[in-house]
Amino acid sequence: MSLRNLPSVDALLLQSSALLASYGRPLTLQALRKTLEMARTHVRNGGEVPSTEVLLSWTASQLAQWTKPTLEPVINATGVILHTNLGRAPLSKSAIAAMLAASSGYSNLEFDLTTGKRGSRLIHAEALLKQLTGSEAAVVVNNCASAVLLVLSALAKGKRVIIARSQLVEIGGGFRIPDVMKQSGAKLLEIGTTNKTRLSDYEEALSANHFSATAFSPVSKSILMRAHRSNFRILGFTEEPSLREVADLAHQYQTILIDDLGSGTLIDVTRYGLAHEPTVQESLAAGADVVMFSGDKLLGGPQAGIILGRADLLSKIKKHPLARAVRADKTRLAALSATLLHYLKDEAEREIPIWQMIAQSPESLRARAEAWKTHLGCGEVVPSESTVGGGSLPGETLKTFVLSLAVQSASSVLERLRKYTPPVIARVENNRVLLDPRTVLPEQESTLLAALSATLGSTQRS
Ligand SMILES: *Cc1c(COP(=O)(O)O)cnc(C)c1O
Repeated sequence: MSLRNLPSVDALLLQSSALLASYGRPLTLQALRKTLEMARTHVRNGGEVPSTEVLLSWTASQLAQWTKPTLEPVINATGVILHTNLGRAPLSKSAIAAMLAASSGYSNLEFDLTTGKRGSRLIHAEALLKQLTGSEAAVVVNNCASAVLLVLSALAKGKRVIIARSQLVEIGGGFRIPDVMKQSGAKLLEIGTTNKTRLSDYEEALSANHFSATAFSPVSKSILMRAHRSNFRILGFTEEPSLREVADLAHQYQTILIDDLGSGTLIDVTRYGLAHEPTVQESLAAGADVVMFSGDKLLGGPQAGIILGRADLLSKIKKHPLARAVRADKTRLAALSATLLHYLKDEAEREIPIWQMIAQSPESLRARAEAWKTHLGCGEVVPSESTVGGGSLPGETLKTFVLSLAVQSASSVLERLRKYTPPVIARVENNRVLLDPRTVLPEQESTLLAALSATLGSTQRS
């Protein structure tokens, strides 16, 4: 009945200068029309005509909702260092600066500054990778999954790939080694049993119909592959030959061994009390001809797939058409180089966030949790465990201290923390909310405490 008391779009537009400045004319107009539509429905349903002020505030929240980024920073208080769902490795300060520098303007991405001619993007991280690992060459691609696909496509298409049954893994997100093999045109040849594979299993598979009969020089029809069991463990009665034995056998049969390391650490993690995780250098030294690993797992860099190994094989890989499809962009090449430089300068533990997190002592974690408790005036500091996560070091934990909050409903506190800006992701155990300082970056602490105060202020606590 009082619909005609609603202002027109034009009348509202005259009062929307702040919104126009922030969001531009077309989007503001769209939001105003939507607001008026809502207002008409409201009035038809017996409501009062909203004031202009109310109408403009509806418009503002609509605009804020439409333009809010879906990808936003969160505070990780779960204690899982390489949390795949939370974006894996946070980058070092210089890696971030390098990305910014590479993307703010032009760069010599594929331009040779000496000759003034076209260059190759592949050179950018290559020298550092060679120097750090002793590899003959290096290729950087989108991620380790694409590295595996590319390597198999370039080196194993139409061949048999011999792999132990215990290594036919699914990495997560549906990335299954047998499926990738099919995609690449390679034929899977499983050997051994779930728990035991012997060198003789490899040898039998190799000696059966190995060389093509017509060739003058023998051409191998099979290659060997090792996939690291990066997200599970086999316990009990198990057996597997060493990587060196498998590599030697491959070479004896004039073929190659490719090694999907996944997490690919450059640092020996046993110095932090963790179980041994094969390093990239060890794999190359054991004789693997091609090694693949992720940039954003234990390397602590940007998402990337790194391929190392024999120069002749890598040159085939570089020339394969898929290499272009899975190539790395300039920002990640910049961040990767900056990350690798930390290793070269022996400052990884000081500069790379994931190593800072792994290296934190339980005492310093306890002190941080105690400070949180004092600040909030509630909770308990209790011993707990952090994990490395992200498809590395399965079952391995690091001793930590967490702030444990007894709340009426842990799930509703968790939800409220998720809805905070920035969202805080915590963990629940026995209906207690646990916050692990290990994965909370020092510069996020005050924000975390503000989030907790706001959240707990509106719920029951003890
Ligand atoms: C994690 C992992 C991959 C996939 O790496 P992304 O970089 O996530 O693509 C492949 N293989 C192994 C063994 C892994 O652990």
